[in-house]
Amino acid sequence: MASDTTRPSARHADTAWLTGMQAVNDEAVGLLDVSIIDASAGVDLLVDAMRGDPEAAALLQAIRQAADRVRKAPRRHPALCICCPRSVKRIRPGTVFGIAVPATPNPTGAIGFVFCDRCAADRNTLAAKAADGLRRIWPTLRQVEITHPEGGRA
Ligand SMILES: [Zn+2]
Repeated sequence: MASDTTRPSARHADTAWLTGMQAVNDEAVGLLDVSIIDASAGVDLLVDAMRGDPEAAALLQAIRQAADRVRKAPRRHPALCICCPRSVKRIRPGTVFGIAVPATPNPTGAIGFVFCDRCAADRNTLAAKAADGLRRIWPTLRQVEITHPEGGRA
């Protein structure tokens, strides 16, 4: 906590997260698969992971890291919504997560992020907003494929 002043002032100031993002970016070569995970999809993921599905376990791990990032963020530098400038200060049962995975045959990296309640509330625009947010962080992204567990409900 005392090292607050040494933090970079980037919008997403968490160095570990940025490093993870960079690793995913390098592996993705501009192609990203993004899953939007809400509470019910999270339960499915948990069940799959418990059944030994390694992909589900990796996605859960990315969610856990994103949740830790929110919880451990210093008060003055809270974690931010991937879509908008609002901060996300706590994880609630209804918190919606996104997970970005390189769109390669055997991706090894995955990075999780959170949506603020307001962005998450509009499911019809969430995927497009998430893609825009990721492109802001990763200007080199060529393609973002959003998987929507509850999609098609427009
Ligand atoms: Zn937002």
